[in-house]
Amino acid sequence: MKDNITCKGFSSVLIINSGILWPALVLVMTLNVFGQDSKKVTARITTWYQNKPGAVSVSFDDASYSQHTAAYPILEKLGIKATFSIVGEWVGEAPAFSAEPGSMEIKKMGWPQLLELYDQGHELAAHGYTHEKYDKLMPVPNLVEEMNKIKTLIESRIQTKVYTMNYPYSYASGNIPIAAEEAGYLFGRTGLDTVNPSSPGNMYLLATHVILNETSPDSVIFQNWLDQAKGNWLILMYHHLFEEGSKEMEIIRSHDVVNSYSLSPFQFEKQMKSLVSVNYWVAPVSTIGKYITERDNTEIRVIRTKKKIYINTFTNLNKNVYNHPLTIEVELPWKKVSVQGSLNDGIFTTEERKLYIDAYPEKQIVITKESY
Ligand SMILES: [Zn+2]
Repeated sequence: MKDNITCKGFSSVLIINSGILWPALVLVMTLNVFGQDSKKVTARITTWYQNKPGAVSVSFDDASYSQHTAAYPILEKLGIKATFSIVGEWVGEAPAFSAEPGSMEIKKMGWPQLLELYDQGHELAAHGYTHEKYDKLMPVPNLVEEMNKIKTLIESRIQTKVYTMNYPYSYASGNIPIAAEEAGYLFGRTGLDTVNPSSPGNMYLLATHVILNETSPDSVIFQNWLDQAKGNWLILMYHHLFEEGSKEMEIIRSHDVVNSYSLSPFQFEKQMKSLVSVNYWVAPVSTIGKYITERDNTEIRVIRTKKKIYINTFTNLNKNVYNHPLTIEVELPWKKVSVQGSLNDGIFTTEERKLYIDAYPEKQIVITKESY
């Protein structure tokens, strides 16, 4: 879609990219009437929030009690908000031991621990009402019913919509991702052992890298995953954080289990510290997923007058759901400006005539040229 708009007093051309795939709408205005200020003004939504170079989500499955005792304090210390997924049958009013029939029982979080995580800004996600693979051949309406059981259970506790499904066993073949969408989830996390591109082809088949045990991944592989996350979206999958020498680790060792799906709190902290050091955007699955959807479905229009730049964003998305602020990079010809309508209003001296503004979708931003 291309619109030609003629503004009063001067002529300008708006090139509007309505693209689903091309988020960064480029707008060029040719203005000859402003003499030395006649440089272009361009605005685009940055790939990641606050123009970070990559995105990472830390996700946990099965609601192991060790996530609360060992992972949670490390996450809080480092300022990381994660996604914790819940199995309906395994969660009660207090922490309790549970497992699939024939498996080693492991202590799981109760609602008080999960609600504490939620209150601290972590995401609660669904991981099946029972810990069983969904049947890929089951008719979609029946799968939807199954998936709604865990969704409504969590929603009844947090009074907020649940948007993320971490499929049991990461299994998402056949009708499963279709049903997740119909059940009202926005994001589905499967396996695949890779990173997601900046615009994933299917939000119901999000890839994840799984932590298998204390040494897999080792620090070299973990760093490699982080390197791959540059420009992309890495989702990490954790389960248990048993201490070396704990009763659980002794049982695991005595059964020669290689993939314990557990790592020590020490190793977890090392991984989280490497994660923080690369300065990516680290946020829950639904937070990053929403940003991507907004970025890819929002248009920008820029209007410039002699001393002001007006930036308007437009989207057809439901703003009650898609309510994450976007980061807009503006290239402008002025050095000192004031900004209104953003989350970081104020007076700024631009660096290389670039400005980064965080703003909610469809909130008008006004940039005013200030005198030196
Ligand atoms: Zn699981």
